[in-house]
Amino acid sequence: MSLKPCPILINGNWSVPETAETSPVHNPSTGEVIAEVPHCGADVVDAAVNAAADAFEGWWQTPPIGRVRVLMRYCALLEENFESLAAMIVVEHGKTITEARGDLRRGIEVAEYACGITDMLKGEVLENVARGIDCSMVRQPIGVCVGICPYNFPALVPMWMYPMAIACGNSFILKPSEKVPLTGIRLIELFEEAGLPPGVFSVVHGGKECVDALLEHPKVAAISFVGSSAVAEQIHRKGTANGKRVQAAGGAKNFVVVMPDADVGQAVEGLTDAAFGCSGQRCMAGSTAVTVGAAADTFIPAIVDSARSLPVGPTHQSTTAKLGGMTTAAQRDRVAGLIQAGVDEGCDLLVDGRGVKVEEFPNGFYLGASVLDRVQEGMRVFDEEVFGPVLNVMRMDDVETAIEMAGRVAYGNGACIYTQNGRIAREFRHRVKAGMVGVNVGVPAPLAYFPFSGWDYSFFGDLHLQGRESVMFYTRAKVFTERWFAPGEGDVWHKDD
Ligand code: NAD
Repeated sequence: MSLKPCPILINGNWSVPETAETSPVHNPSTGEVIAEVPHCGADVVDAAVNAAADAFEGWWQTPPIGRVRVLMRYCALLEENFESLAAMIVVEHGKTITEARGDLRRGIEVAEYACGITDMLKGEVLENVARGIDCSMVRQPIGVCVGICPYNFPALVPMWMYPMAIACGNSFILKPSEKVPLTGIRLIELFEEAGLPPGVFSVVHGGKECVDALLEHPKVAAISFVGSSAVAEQIHRKGTANGKRVQAAGGAKNFVVVMPDADVGQAVEGLTDAAFGCSGQRCMAGSTAVTVGAAADTFIPAIVDSARSLPVGPTHQSTTAKLGGMTTAAQRDRVAGLIQAGVDEGCDLLVDGRGVKVEEFPNGFYLGASVLDRVQEGMRVFDEEVFGPVLNVMRMDDVETAIEMAGRVAYGNGACIYTQNGRIAREFRHRVKAGMVGVNVGVPAPLAYFPFSGWDYSFFGDLHLQGRESVMFYTRAKVFTERWFAPGEGDVWHKDD
């Protein structure tokens, strides 16, 4: 059966572009191809950018409260379509329905936050900077903004970007991940239905060729990127070299320290979700547990039991499965290879998720939870982002050693500690090298009103996604200096004529 390619959106019209190259989208639970994605080239990108540039001229003149009204209708439509959108995430991504609802809910919260843009856009005024002279500053939108997205959060990551960009008065071009484009398309169909004028939003698809065309287009003002660090770094370099604003969030290695005084039940519950939730395909995954001292004796057997107890199954049918298929077969195979590399380099494989079988769907991309103990710096599983349902365990003598180790890791997204000791928690929070820190929390992903503040090799740029930093990113300052003369006042030049 030939599948209809996913549509693009330009100037308010959804259409299928003529392009020879397409790539498949799978249901990870069954391995079936459910859609084909067309890969757009420079010609399609040019049409999308020109439409967005034209539409920007009208959209930024729309009073902010008018833009908010569209967003409020959009939020209502997202609620009405909440369950069908969540089901779509499950089918194209493989995560559980509970995780899919979380993906969408966190995204909707950004759209709700964007409804407060009238307050966030207010400027500053200082009267009498000199006698009779006033100075004021307003923030204006920057123009055509682009969002390039990864596959692991089909709703949330695009929504980190476009509600705020649009609320600020920009036009926007979304390039969803070519692995999970269906949710993004539906999200934007609903935005159009909410009353967005034609051209304010465009959707294009593809991989590197499409992204390069966006990075090179002279009418693109800003790029928001989320994906792996190697690509994030390239995007940042190329985008800034082309004179664009760029915020590029990358990958991660997040450590969760378990102190001897931690409540083991809470630490196991937190780590089970942090390491194995969404099959470990999260930039905030708690991918390494660092046990301090005697914590190893109680925590390790308990997390092993928990990992073994997690049912794997077809998340589009099962409500009991805690792990579905990995989103792509390639990622499943890569993670399986990294588990083997860990074994070959001397780790103890306490739980092996590689042999898992789901009889009904032998072609699904399944991988069960795995636990690798005695991981050391320098091993591949230590150095590389695994991005799968694998928990590394490292054993250390004290929290100092754990903080120092985190300081040597290139990435800087998240770090957590489980302890009952406020002084140690405070010391860890203050000194650990990571932009998002949790205390007795497994996945410290900030909500819409705070920046998603990765550091170092986890983020390239200055202003992060979410929160007020996104208002700064999607606008630029204009400063007025004004003096109004009374009749005859200050007319020195003419008096001397
Ligand atoms: P990816 O880097 O492979 O792809 C991300 C996007 O970039 C996709 O839209 C893809 O089409 C495009 N792309 C891929 N290669 C490119 C190239 N050479 N040139 C230009 N564009 C290219 O990432 P992924 O596998 O889709 O997503 C997983 C990664 O995203 C993980 O590393 C994860 O940690 C990261 N991630 C980070 C955050 C964060 O906030 N820091 C959030 C979610 C995901």
